[in-house]
Amino acid sequence: MGTLRAVALFVLTLSFLTFVALFGRLPALRNTPIGFVHRLIWIHIPNFAQRIDIILTGGRGSRAGARFSHYLLYQKHPLVLIFFLGLLTGSSALLLPVIWPRLSASLRFPVVLLLPLPYIFTYLCVYPPTPFSPHITPTTLSSHLTHYPYDYTLYHDFRPPCRTCLKPKPPRSKHCNLCGTCVARADHHCVWVNNCLGRGNYKFFLLLLLTSSVTIAYGAYIAWAALAPDVTRICVAMASRRSRLRDGRNMFESFIPAFALQRFRAAALGLSIAVDVGGLRVTGVGLLAVLTAPLPLGLLVYHVRLIHAGTTTNESSKWADLGEDMREGIVFVARVRKELRWGSVEDEDDERGRWKGEWVRTEGEEGTGRDEITDVEDSSEEGSSDDGASANNQVSHRRLLKRQKAAWPLGPRQVAIRCVSGLLPDELPPELADLVEPGTWQRCWKLVDVDNIYDLGFWDNLSEFLLH
Ligand SMILES: [Zn+2]
Ligand SMILES: [Zn+2]
Repeated sequence: MGTLRAVALFVLTLSFLTFVALFGRLPALRNTPIGFVHRLIWIHIPNFAQRIDIILTGGRGSRAGARFSHYLLYQKHPLVLIFFLGLLTGSSALLLPVIWPRLSASLRFPVVLLLPLPYIFTYLCVYPPTPFSPHITPTTLSSHLTHYPYDYTLYHDFRPPCRTCLKPKPPRSKHCNLCGTCVARADHHCVWVNNCLGRGNYKFFLLLLLTSSVTIAYGAYIAWAALAPDVTRICVAMASRRSRLRDGRNMFESFIPAFALQRFRAAALGLSIAVDVGGLRVTGVGLLAVLTAPLPLGLLVYHVRLIHAGTTTNESSKWADLGEDMREGIVFVARVRKELRWGSVEDEDDERGRWKGEWVRTEGEEGTGRDEITDVEDSSEEGSSDDGASANNQVSHRRLLKRQKAAWPLGPRQVAIRCVSGLLPDELPPELADLVEPGTWQRCWKLVDVDNIYDLGFWDNLSEFLLH
């Protein structure tokens, strides 16, 4: 029992900490023990350690720690990728040679089918073939500009170009400092695959999550399937020795009919026998698989919810920022001119384009979206500084809208801007005046009052994410 306890405790702790690291920042878990442990690990313990370090070494240790954590969190490095592949390869190498002779052909076949898939999809996320690369290059920029329309809520075409790439930012794109390029339909820079996920390779990430979940869960299943006959035989022998069992197959039920504690003891006994029978290689890896399979599955569920809301991780953060600014009363909305509208967002019964993603919030990424929301005072200065350039912009902007209309079924119905002063300026930049129906500006307090034109409904969103 001692070994079992140690293995179970280690695997449980590892899984719990990984879960906390991945999900502890979610607002839904903020006031739960998960959120508390997350703050404990990431804020309180480091602060305490830093205070001790200052007393003992004058802060040398914490400076080295800060450099290392900065490297881990904010530099492009393959450590997490190596850890994942090492864990998958190491676990398979420990488990499969031992259980392979005990598996029937029908149980072996899925192993051959499943095991290569996480490697293949990891590779496609890390090194996507050129057509699937999310990074925007000078060659692909013009096509990326036409894939989605500017919604004039999160993305505006009269914003300045990317400061690093010095190129216009296509709708739904984001510049990644780690990759050094703008990323099309940017989701997030993923430390797991050491690359940005966006239009092109995001589908491979979804498939990586799916195949990892299934492969790991199947690993747990075959570990159990290989041990089950011996464990059951020993359980039956023990039970009949104790004369408490008529049918060995129902050992757990008849052994402990009512009480949770007894059931727990029986499960621990079963595991203990499994350790004896399978050793650490089979039971340890099987237990690790049981406890880690929910992690990629949880991430997959999170991304399916994003897809359902017609948004990306990056956009969910922008929506949350916009919602906060609305609550502060500094967001104004106006209707787009009728001749520039398209799509069916005017139809009140049409579910497409309705905002339904307010639950999404990536805490700690505050401010990432705010630069995209027009600050009227800034735009006014830019617009008034060069009227000739502005007129040209209006012409090319209308041409661009036409191309975007051909590519996406929903068009913007409203323009949302943020006025830091909390007041709408008397004079608006000409780009805006050209875009909106005069006299329709009003303060907007709630996200439900603006459209998400990137939400076409779950199935259309899913096919958009899987096909592109
Ligand atoms: Zn850029
Ligand atoms: Zn990146």
